[in-house]
Amino acid sequence: MSFILALDQGTTSSRALLFNEEGNAVATSQQEFTQHFPDTSMVEHDPNEIWSSQISSVSAVMSKHGISSKDLAAIGIANQRETTIVWERSTGNPIYNAIVWQDRRTAKRCEELESDGVGELISKKTGLLLDAYFSATKIEWILENVDGARKAAEADNLCFGTVDSWLIWKLTGGSVHATDITNASRTMLFNIHSCEWDDELLELFTIPRSMLPKVVSNSETIGRTSVDAFATDVPIAGSAGDQQAALVGQLCFEQGSMKNTYGTGCFLVLNTGDKPIPSRHKLLTTIGWQIGDRTAYALEGSIFVAGAAIQWLRDGLEIIKKSEDSEKLARSVEDNGGVYLVPAFTGLGAPHWDPHARGLITGITRGTTQAHIARAALESIAYQVADVVEAMQHDSGMTISELRVDGGATSNDFLIQFQSDVLGIPIRRPESVETTARGAALLAGLAVGFWDSIDALKGEIEGDSVFQPSISREKVQKLKQGWNTALSRAMHWDN
Ligand code: ADP
Repeated sequence: MSFILALDQGTTSSRALLFNEEGNAVATSQQEFTQHFPDTSMVEHDPNEIWSSQISSVSAVMSKHGISSKDLAAIGIANQRETTIVWERSTGNPIYNAIVWQDRRTAKRCEELESDGVGELISKKTGLLLDAYFSATKIEWILENVDGARKAAEADNLCFGTVDSWLIWKLTGGSVHATDITNASRTMLFNIHSCEWDDELLELFTIPRSMLPKVVSNSETIGRTSVDAFATDVPIAGSAGDQQAALVGQLCFEQGSMKNTYGTGCFLVLNTGDKPIPSRHKLLTTIGWQIGDRTAYALEGSIFVAGAAIQWLRDGLEIIKKSEDSEKLARSVEDNGGVYLVPAFTGLGAPHWDPHARGLITGITRGTTQAHIARAALESIAYQVADVVEAMQHDSGMTISELRVDGGATSNDFLIQFQSDVLGIPIRRPESVETTARGAALLAGLAVGFWDSIDALKGEIEGDSVFQPSISREKVQKLKQGWNTALSRAMHWDN
């Protein structure tokens, strides 16, 4: 028996999972690490703690399952994206903490760039919206603000990497400086048309090319381990950003296939095939995956508040004790009673991008109860998702015939059924919700022949639940009308 080891390096914890030949996770281990908030707009991680938490979860999962590195066919990586690390090439020491994707310290810089009129150039080349979220302005900040950084960069002694790149460097004992193409496509320095680092953008952000990692595909041997935790050298054979890894883990290999992850927020990714599609609805165009000579592009949309609205029912309103109680409460009433909740707590993400929107509850009457509000909160998740799906259909001209789902909130059957009703398409929920780690494992396993082909994988993974639409389109139309009215009142609120 041999296994694929998947590293799932997330924003709050590092996880390690073992996958067997059937593509199922057989053991898992997880370690949380410290979040640093040096200022209200800043979020940082210690790169050494990212590494130590990751490698100790690896050792834990292998000892838990009683295996050694000889039993590993390959390693695959999935990681928090955009988070920026800069380290010295000569010593391997980070020169600053990792600046996390959530960090807003460079928001002003992005506004300046926008008023300089470079937003369109950036969108055209990278498929992204000019924003502090992506790596470019974070690297620029480190070079400007860390003593000696600029000089070291010019002397070719600094390496930049997103978290995948940092883990690959550490796993290979500092011999490989590489990143995969999906992570590269989130830096705002990568041209998604030529699939290369873009000199014009590097110049714009004054970033020396020598800092950048080599870009590799998502499924190939990138290097071999050279670190104590592995007695033998194991190939690192797959890597992808977390949302793209989930796209693969959900087997979204065909054009038009799509996944949504329902966590704190929602992340929707649509495989648009072999050409990038620019968005007219503020979605991101990005690389979905590159396997062998096939590259799939994707459209991506993020919703800021999804499961977080349920947390608010629990912690803010205190009308439920646990997130899962929301289902029973919502089902205790026949319908929403005309109540709509727009959870624009921190503005609205895709496809509205309105930082001035604020949350509201509307349609309240004397008969409104907690149950209507809980129901409205769950329904709001589904409406927001439907708005992004609609934008994706408009941008791509594709008809989306099924949605594959994962993430913590998908255990709520009411939510998933309502999602199917609103979209009018089937929703497929896999038995195992470990789709991100599974994607990393599949990419690595395909590269080393652990699995023969994408088609072989489809046969292996089974056990999905499918939810079919169950209400009339007329009724949906009416419900959506209510949602759209509520949405319009929530938008531009504090302008
Ligand atoms: P993240 O990775 O963003 O931390 P998870 O995938 O772990 O998120 O999902 C946790 C989120 O899902 C929380 O916001 C929680 O409120 C929500 N959630 C979990 N279970 C349910 C449920 N049964 N019904 C509704 N929401 C749920």
